[in-house]
Amino acid sequence: MSTASNTATGTTTSTTTNAALKGKVAFIHGGSRGIGAATARRLARDGAAVAIGYASSAIAAEALAEEIIATGGKAIAIKADATDAAALTRAIDGVAERFGRLDILVNSAGVLAVAPLDQFTLEDFDRTVAVNVRSVFVASQAAAKHMGDGGRIINIGSTNGQRMPFAGGAVYAMSKSALIGLVKGMARDLGPRGITVNNVAPGPVDTDMNPENTEFGASLHDLMALRRHGKADEIAAMVAYLAGPEAAFVTGADLLIDGGFAA
Ligand code: NDP
Repeated sequence: MSTASNTATGTTTSTTTNAALKGKVAFIHGGSRGIGAATARRLARDGAAVAIGYASSAIAAEALAEEIIATGGKAIAIKADATDAAALTRAIDGVAERFGRLDILVNSAGVLAVAPLDQFTLEDFDRTVAVNVRSVFVASQAAAKHMGDGGRIINIGSTNGQRMPFAGGAVYAMSKSALIGLVKGMARDLGPRGITVNNVAPGPVDTDMNPENTEFGASLHDLMALRRHGKADEIAAMVAYLAGPEAAFVTGADLLIDGGFAA
């Protein structure tokens, strides 16, 4: 693939298509916005048929599917609320049935609640665990049934699984460090079948969850070697690498892509 890039801003523009994922089918949970949407676009550009899972952003998910189809790709939008295990499993089974196979699962659905320990509600604790951890387990269990040799499970973890340098983020950090343990164990379970399981662990990325242009966003730059937010496309590029054939020997890993946040 040939690309033009600006290293100062992290902007990357693809000029040709890499069909490394031609014939593959991917389900992107939380594909309607942010990192998941960038991943859906990228995997589609690399040749995969993509199913865009969403909970509430139906319009954005449908629009993204139409955009991908308009550029010659294959895409569908499918409702799959992370907090409903049966519905999530049904959605994944439906994707495998519709496309005849499932090769790649990307777990990008996530929520961030920040509050001091004495004000953090049990409701937010339970929601964080349900979306950020439990749904990753449920989706992986459902997807693995359909995967063969070369299958890929890729979670969007966080650099906060390794470093939490501000107050109020304890539960979010816990949810992302839980994924580090989960991928290590699942990599052992699925390795004999030729399926790899990894986390991509971003630092601050400019999305609805963590906009760069805010006081909080700017304060994060002081903690980083590269004093800027990442772009969703930069994270999608690492997901695309893990999804592709060149990453066949990478499994059980928590791969930082954080502008030196944890350095
Ligand atoms: P956004 O807020 O931009 O997007 C969140 C995505 O998750 C949406 O597609 C949303 O779908 C989906 N989602 C939320 N709740 C549910 C649910 N109950 N069921 C299904 N889908 C759900 O966030 P980002 O793109 O920034 O975050 C993506 C992942 O990356 C998350 O796991 C996050 O923790 C992680 N991350 C983000 C960083 C950042 O700085 N932005 C840094 C490190 C990690 P819908 O709108 O349809 O509800």
